Amino acid sequence: MDIPYWNKEIETADRATLEKIQLERLRKTISSAIRSPFYKRMLGEVGISSGDDIKSLNDLRRIPFTTKDDLRKSFPKGMMAVDMEQVVRIHSSSGTTGIPTVIYFSMEDIKNWTDLLARCIVSTGATSKDVFQNMMTYGLFTGGLGLHYGAEAVGMTIIPIGGGNTKRQIKVMKDFQTTVLHITPSYLLHIHSKLGDVGISRDELAISKAFVGAEPHSENTRLKIQELLNIDAYNSYGLSELNGPGVAFECVYKKDMHVWEDAYIVEIIDSETGEVLEDGREGEVVLTNLVRHAMPILRYKTRDLAFLHPDKCECGRTHRRLSRILGRTDDMLIINGVNVFPSQIEEKIMQIPEVGTNYQIHVDKKGSLDRLTVKVEIYPKLFMGEASQLDALKNRIKEELRSSIVINAVVELHEPGALPVSEGKAQRVVDQRSKL
Ligand code: AMP
Ligand code: ZN
Repeated sequence: MDIPYWNKEIETADRATLEKIQLERLRKTISSAIRSPFYKRMLGEVGISSGDDIKSLNDLRRIPFTTKDDLRKSFPKGMMAVDMEQVVRIHSSSGTTGIPTVIYFSMEDIKNWTDLLARCIVSTGATSKDVFQNMMTYGLFTGGLGLHYGAEAVGMTIIPIGGGNTKRQIKVMKDFQTTVLHITPSYLLHIHSKLGDVGISRDELAISKAFVGAEPHSENTRLKIQELLNIDAYNSYGLSELNGPGVAFECVYKKDMHVWEDAYIVEIIDSETGEVLEDGREGEVVLTNLVRHAMPILRYKTRDLAFLHPDKCECGRTHRRLSRILGRTDDMLIINGVNVFPSQIEEKIMQIPEVGTNYQIHVDKKGSLDRLTVKVEIYPKLFMGEASQLDALKNRIKEELRSSIVINAVVELHEPGALPVSEGKAQRVVDQRSKL
């Protein structure tokens, strides 16, 4: 097979060269990071005052982990390492509100990120001849703009349609003979189920590839997508804290995702002990930025569980491959690509005076899409009131939730005592999405 590369030299560099680049860039990154109040304090505590204190890659282990909580506590500027004047873009994590995290990019950072995405795109065999329908949300979420810039660098014809509006998406796919999609796997399956409603058949479409990511999905889901739509689906992994998409991406061989190791140091750790695990062992993914200077993040605990493949990929790239994301170390739910913490839901519903103390969060599938149902117990006297009052309350809860978690939840009101109570730790979340 003729293997396509964006930057062959770097993508196939031997380990020694990669490690040399990593060390140089780590030093530079630390010198940038230390300009932020957060890292000045953290690095100072472990006796690091500049990049020069890093003598080998092993010295990375002297640095404590950074967590999402650190990002929240440093909001808005505690991790910013440059003057605002040098910042050309701000992104923020999905799930949003209440607990914001923000990432700053300089012009150079955007250039570097774009380059990584161009590599990802080209590694799947996509080219400037492709018509690229970017169905990920544009805006503060990194998915839309991230891939957009990469696709532009490759010279693809971009349709920056963003998320939602299924009928229009399908029509646009047909009108412009889209060849490559960027989309969440659940939404792609939903799109497939709606083709008939729009009166457009698969044969009228030119799609040949999809970049799917932003949410967990199994190999079987990928196979289902490929079979139903007769396309190749490539797994795409990233998180806003580390830029967004472009951290790891599958190449034409589709045997898990190359992590761009000249741009990120990837470690897999035992989340309990912090011990760094060898390749092949499953643990928490920890990432360090090497090419972002407006806000570098060192040793970020992603909470994602995966392992690194110890063997080489047939494509010739030397950058190690990360497995599919196998789970999370926390209780974060990903609902149609949007991150939601059960605590965000609890905080909102408990602010509503009519709501009692017991509630449950259900997640299941409606067709291919995820459905969130929030069941709440309300005080007894409310049940004796008018049905219209109950409807109004339901809508109010729904609106409150929508403003907080950006998801349309189904709200069910229950009489006191109707929801199961557990004697031990309350089981608030029931996730019934089948592990396809
Ligand atoms: P966000 O910061 O909103 O981009 O969300 C990032 C999180 O989404 C990651 O930490 C993962 O938990 C999840 N995620 C992103 N891409 C994938 C993927 N390809 N497979 C599984 N989970 C993913
Ligand atoms: Zn490969």
